[in-house]
Amino acid sequence: MTVQVSPNSLDNYWMPFTANRDFRQDPRLLVRAEGVSFWNHRGDRLLDACSGLFCVPLGHGRREITEAVATQLATLDFAPPFQYGTPGAFELARRVAALTPNGLDHVFFTNSGSESVETAMKIALAYHRANGEPQRQRFIGRERGYHGVNFGGISVGGMVKNREAFGSALPVVSHLRHTHLDANRMTPGQGAHGADLADDLQRFVDLHGATSIAACIVEPVAGSTGVLVPPKGYLERLRAICDRHGILLIFDEVITGFGRLGPAFGAQAFGVTPDIMTMAKALTNGAIPMGAAVFRNEIHDTIVNSAPAGTIELFHGYTYSAHPAACAAGNATLALYESEGTFAQGAALAPYFQEQLFALADLPVVRDIRGLGLLGGIDLAQGEGPGTRGYETLKRLFAAGLVTRVTADTLILAPAFVMARDDVDRLFETLRDVLGTI
Ligand code: PMP
Repeated sequence: MTVQVSPNSLDNYWMPFTANRDFRQDPRLLVRAEGVSFWNHRGDRLLDACSGLFCVPLGHGRREITEAVATQLATLDFAPPFQYGTPGAFELARRVAALTPNGLDHVFFTNSGSESVETAMKIALAYHRANGEPQRQRFIGRERGYHGVNFGGISVGGMVKNREAFGSALPVVSHLRHTHLDANRMTPGQGAHGADLADDLQRFVDLHGATSIAACIVEPVAGSTGVLVPPKGYLERLRAICDRHGILLIFDEVITGFGRLGPAFGAQAFGVTPDIMTMAKALTNGAIPMGAAVFRNEIHDTIVNSAPAGTIELFHGYTYSAHPAACAAGNATLALYESEGTFAQGAALAPYFQEQLFALADLPVVRDIRGLGLLGGIDLAQGEGPGTRGYETLKRLFAAGLVTRVTADTLILAPAFVMARDDVDRLFETLRDVLGTI
């Protein structure tokens, strides 16, 4: 399929996280997707190396999902989610709760990862108020964390570029140091060094007082800033400090959720149970925007039981929370994950993927490689300025037939769990060809 693009058809759409002016010179338009492939407007086939944007473990265009959505829209296209319920929402909440660790059984639906983070942060505050500790208002985030682009998320997040144009955002936030250590360079999986970085949380407790801190939020593996795998013992230590001081631990599992690291969530992959988890993306295999935040039962019960009977317990929600089409996509997706053993399929592919990933270490332009499960990050030597080499590489990879994600000078790979070994080979051959000439 070829699609005509006239220059002025690019005039009105302000593209997110994109070099808009540069894009016009040579637009990268994607017009069709199936399995692990995209097609551009010229009809060229490209390999999807990042599951869209970490969204499609099952590959693109699964009929079971698109048909479930079409049927749902024809039956009940929309219903108000406030004071009314639709069956798909209850079913999806049950399915999600069955995948999260025991004791996290209460699911709040949103439309994105960013909204899931805001929901998690607001409910953390509401919990402490309901629990008689309204002074717990401080959030602890982490350098190089990514928690979406809303005000709460950019405040606890640690990507400077995402904050600097927008002023100071939330005032009462501290950041742990990030976990990207030279001592763990080129180490597959979890590094041996740096668990003590979690003690930064104890330092904030000492500095601000434990009873001023509401929650600590981290991604189990920081994804968008280049796949920073936590050192061994790090998450365990964060959990222990939170327990000691009544601080809620939030895992932002927007990327790590739904099997990316093997088990359903990072929580199970690392054997550390948070109090709140956020998710999105693979919840619907990317087909319809949807996110969720899942809460430990005590958080839910404390808030709900503190309100008089018969009244609304939590003044929070979105018009499109639990949208029927999104629930249909979510239910069809989670049913496929179960019936097809998708997480196990991903886990079976992961060692091969990781082996190929770390085999790129001999290329002169490659400075560091990190990876776990079906997630990989490759740091490139900086070019003329920060990010220029990354962006040039993205363009060259696209020309060579790969759609991937670049953050500054780091390439990120996150294949669909259904990717065949031949396609993994093609992915790394293309990478080797392109990176070898840089
Ligand atoms: N949290 C994490 C960990 C993410 O990776 C992302 C998106 N990559 C978000 C939040 C934000 O999600 P969204 O773009 O759907 O708002």
